[in-house]
Amino acid sequence: MEKIKSFTLPKLPYDYNALAPYISEQQLKLHHDKHHQAYVNGANATFEKLDKSRSENAEIDMKATLKELSFNVGGHILHSIFWENMAPAGKGGGKPSGAVADMIDMGFGSFERFKKEFTTAATSVEGSGWAALAVHPCIGRPLIMQIEKHNVNVYPSFKILMVLDVWEHAYYLDYKNERPKFIEAFWNIVNWDYVNKNLSLVK
Ligand code: MN
Repeated sequence: MEKIKSFTLPKLPYDYNALAPYISEQQLKLHHDKHHQAYVNGANATFEKLDKSRSENAEIDMKATLKELSFNVGGHILHSIFWENMAPAGKGGGKPSGAVADMIDMGFGSFERFKKEFTTAATSVEGSGWAALAVHPCIGRPLIMQIEKHNVNVYPSFKILMVLDVWEHAYYLDYKNERPKFIEAFWNIVNWDYVNKNLSLVK
């Protein structure tokens, strides 16, 4: 095992203005620099709290601490996937090709049907959460996870191929309270090459 490291905020794979007009520079900067950073900090702080309790052999509220850890680690990991599964305006969107296209056709019947189901899942997340496309190698069948917060309804050992953040903090500057408009915009900037790359790593 390598030495234990802290989480760090990953750099975006494009400029802050690259996703406009679908996601504005201001919205993306705030989302990445403030919101994602907060989950990175939260996860690291929770690990530190656990370390401290161990070195002092102190009791902590285990249930609350592990809940906090799950929330913050989930937040960090899902955001890290989210940035990568988007591409600069004009370079993403459309329909997937290759293995992802085949998997979607097999699992959902057609890309149109998948898009509709994913959109409905994202739209109907109760409160704050995510929609995710995932697959498990044992059955080959893709499924949509409707994740509440950052960690509820995540299926163990399924590989997440792409995600869409539908927390209000993802779109409030650009779309106010209109989540469906943000979801519609997202389809224009999906990075299907990244999703294909993710799928190719599933064994
Ligand atoms: Mn977010």
